[in-house]
Amino acid sequence: MSTDSELVLGHGMVGLFHYTLTDDGGAVLDSSVGREPMAYLHGFHNIIPGLEKQLEGKGAGVQLRASIPPAEAYGELQGPEAQRVHRRDFPKDIDIVVGASFDVKSKDGRAMTLWVSKVEGAWVWLDANHPLAGKTLHFDVKIVGVRGATDDEKRHGHAHGPDGHHHHH
Ligand code: ZN
Repeated sequence: MSTDSELVLGHGMVGLFHYTLTDDGGAVLDSSVGREPMAYLHGFHNIIPGLEKQLEGKGAGVQLRASIPPAEAYGELQGPEAQRVHRRDFPKDIDIVVGASFDVKSKDGRAMTLWVSKVEGAWVWLDANHPLAGKTLHFDVKIVGVRGATDDEKRHGHAHGPDGHHHHH
């Protein structure tokens, strides 16, 4: 991984960062510690808008703590209550776990995403809200690298890992 300490995050740059995400109560919801850093392409909706805004203009080595309200994260809670669906109504090859998401069409034909919010025996609850909707998210971030995006990354609209060469599709 090559980085240039003069580079800062902005449109078309790839940022690499480690993060720990906690909720209002301080419980850890997710963390990149012990994994590869998160790689994202700035300006292409790879990460939530509130966090992208905080990273704008910053370079490798910067540490920050940001509290992102729902409107700049995964949105406010909305829509109908979670619907209960029987497991047999899902394709057999799908792994049904809490947090899994499905792209479906609503009754009026709109594309929407549903998340599995609960699994109990043969029953699965599908929710139109992202699991983190309605939550203020607290991020502890350390930027570990900034580089220009490759042509492939710009074409795909997302980052291809730390060195830009991960092939995933
Ligand atoms: Zn790609």
